[in-house]
Amino acid sequence: MSLRVQFWGTRGSIPSPGPKTVRYGGNTPCVELRTTEGWLIILDAGTGMRELGRSLLSRANGAPIKGDIFLTHAHWDHIQGIPFFGPIFQRGNHFTIWGSQTLETSIDRIVRDQMNPVVFPVTFEELDATIDFSAIDERKQVRQGFEVSAYPVRHPGGALGYRFSEVGSGRSLVYISDNELGSGGKYETPIGWRSKLVDFVKGAKVLVHDTTYTAEEYDHYRGWGHSTYDDALSLAIEAGVEQLVLFHHKPERSDEELDQRVEQCREIVKERGINMEIEAAAEGMTLTV
Ligand SMILES: [Zn+2]
Ligand SMILES: [Zn+2]
Repeated sequence: MSLRVQFWGTRGSIPSPGPKTVRYGGNTPCVELRTTEGWLIILDAGTGMRELGRSLLSRANGAPIKGDIFLTHAHWDHIQGIPFFGPIFQRGNHFTIWGSQTLETSIDRIVRDQMNPVVFPVTFEELDATIDFSAIDERKQVRQGFEVSAYPVRHPGGALGYRFSEVGSGRSLVYISDNELGSGGKYETPIGWRSKLVDFVKGAKVLVHDTTYTAEEYDHYRGWGHSTYDDALSLAIEAGVEQLVLFHHKPERSDEELDQRVEQCREIVKERGINMEIEAAAEGMTLTV
């Protein structure tokens, strides 16, 4: 019994195709999870969602496609793939889009407005698939054979981190795409936020976390809502995860530089005698939880 994970988009902020990003990929966040029973879970709807849609249509071979889509928040890089997700144009398909109810504008409104005729040729109302919206908070929900809970993280306008596990498996994946672990920014961070975050991540098999910046870069981007490699590594160590997956790569980060960052993180855990696997998320990469 295991959750299967596949990365379709790993880049932060804006699609970044080109010769320097071929291996880790240029599409913005989209991750596919599958339960043992085959239920489809999609994390974020960045531009990686377009290829995921093509893959789902060919795998389904005409059969209806159903699943849950969990959005961390509604910045462009996390919703831009929705209008290009092929399965929403096919009758009989059914998706539930989950998001925070604390955003200033509801997820429902944002997704619909993204397909306003001023900016997109097909309106949301014209879509053939059935699409529902649902709010999620810190309470654990049990869905089609899996459990999910959310935790509010530090990001401009608000964002959620998610924790998933198959019912009865005891192994979890935590997905935190955009989160400022550093001290910058003006957030309404409740007292005890950090220790509650550690509890939220505690004992997960896999932590996928925002690693947009180097420590040097971070000084220029305090308050932009993202973390450094060092900060994500500290959280992973503190929470005792088995594997850390570096995610939401800075648009300018080349494949070679990402290789170096992974090596540096591996050196740090090795020096400290900690047994933790470290990878950088790459388009097409798969793992099991
Ligand atoms: Zn983002
Ligand atoms: Zn964001």
